[in-house]
Amino acid sequence: MMNTKDIVDIMLEIAQKIQSEKDYITELDSILGDGDHWANMNKGFQKIVSMEEKLRGLDISNCFKTIGMTLMSTIGGSSGVLYGDAFITISKNTMGLEQIDLAKGYEILKVALEAIMERGNAKPGDKTMIDPLAEAVLAFEKSLTQGDDKQTLSRTMSEAAKRGMELTKDMVAQKGRATYRQDKGVGYTDAGAVTMYYQLEILARHIADR
Ligand code: ADP
Ligand code: MG
Repeated sequence: MMNTKDIVDIMLEIAQKIQSEKDYITELDSILGDGDHWANMNKGFQKIVSMEEKLRGLDISNCFKTIGMTLMSTIGGSSGVLYGDAFITISKNTMGLEQIDLAKGYEILKVALEAIMERGNAKPGDKTMIDPLAEAVLAFEKSLTQGDDKQTLSRTMSEAAKRGMELTKDMVAQKGRATYRQDKGVGYTDAGAVTMYYQLEILARHIADR
C-alpha cells in the first residue's frame, strides 16, 4: 500500500539519483541528442524537491496532478511533455483514492505507459524512455497474475526495466533526435531510457519495502 507520503519519498529519492548522474546522462544525450536531457530532468525534479511540504499536504490524486503540472512546465524538451502527461493521467486514475495497492499500482504504470506512447506517437522498440517502462509493465502484470510475493514482483520488475533500458543500445532510433544520426544511434544507450530506469528501480524498491 502506498499513500502521498510514499509518493513524495519516492520522488525525492529519484531527484537525488538524477542529480548524482549528471555526467553519465549528459554524455549519453550528447551522443544521441542535444545533451540537455540531464539538465531538463534535474531542473524538473529539483523543483519537486522544493515543493516537498506542499505535496505532502495533498491527497494522492492532487499530489500526482501537481507533480505532472510541475514537470510539464519545468523540464522542457520532449521529456517534459511526456512526463507531465504521464503524471496527469495517473492523477485522473487515482481520484478519491487514499491508498494505492499492488493492482492499482500496476494500473497506473500501465496508463502512464499508454499516455507516453500516445503523446510521443511511439512504441516499444523505438529506442526511447518507453522501452524500460514497457518491460516493467509486462513483468508487473506477469508477477501479479502468478501471485508472486512483493519481493519477487519488485525484483522482476526492476530487472525487466533494466533489460528494457539495455536493449535500447542496439535499437535503431525511430523517435527523437537520435533519428537525425546516420547510424540512428545503434550502439548507444538512450538517455531517456536510463532516467526512466532509475525511476522504476527506485519505485520497485519501495514496493518491496511495503
Ligand atoms: P529533447 O529530445 O527535446 O531534447 P530531452 O533531451 O529532455 O528532450 O529528452 C530526450 C528523451 O526523450 C530521449 O532520450 C527519449 O528517451 C525520449 N523521447 C524523445 N522523443 C520521444 C517520443 N516521441 N516518444 C517517447 N519518448 C521520446
Ligand atoms: Mg535533449
